[in-house]
Amino acid sequence: MPRQRRLRKVVSPPKFKGYKPYGAREQKSPQEEELLYEEYEALKLADYDLMNHAEAATLMGVSRATFARIYESARRKLARAFVETKEIRMAYGNAEMDQDWYICNNCYARFTIPEQVPNDRCPLCNAENIVSVKS
Ligand SMILES: [Zn+2]
Repeated sequence: MPRQRRLRKVVSPPKFKGYKPYGAREQKSPQEEELLYEEYEALKLADYDLMNHAEAATLMGVSRATFARIYESARRKLARAFVETKEIRMAYGNAEMDQDWYICNNCYARFTIPEQVPNDRCPLCNAENIVSVKS
């Protein structure tokens, strides 16, 4: 059997593409930490929704050990970003979305597009510049 890529359930993507430190001296080539969607989700479930790791692991469809690894990785990346003044860029990783999410490149709204209304415009600002969060 071919080895399957393990997907981690993410209920909705983060509402931003990244974070930048402010008040820091401008860097010529700013360094980045790439935070995966599943890492964002793990942080959110554990530290924002205050779930215990067993519940959070179940919600994401992974083992407790895998959850702990994702969560630890997320915390280390955030710590490195803060301490080393790095930007944080969100990346898709191995996330599996509950729906097909899109982001408008004009106003940065996030939305899902119901299949019955094929429409490639942003429902908020009507821009045609929308992208799937997976791309
Ligand atoms: Zn828009």
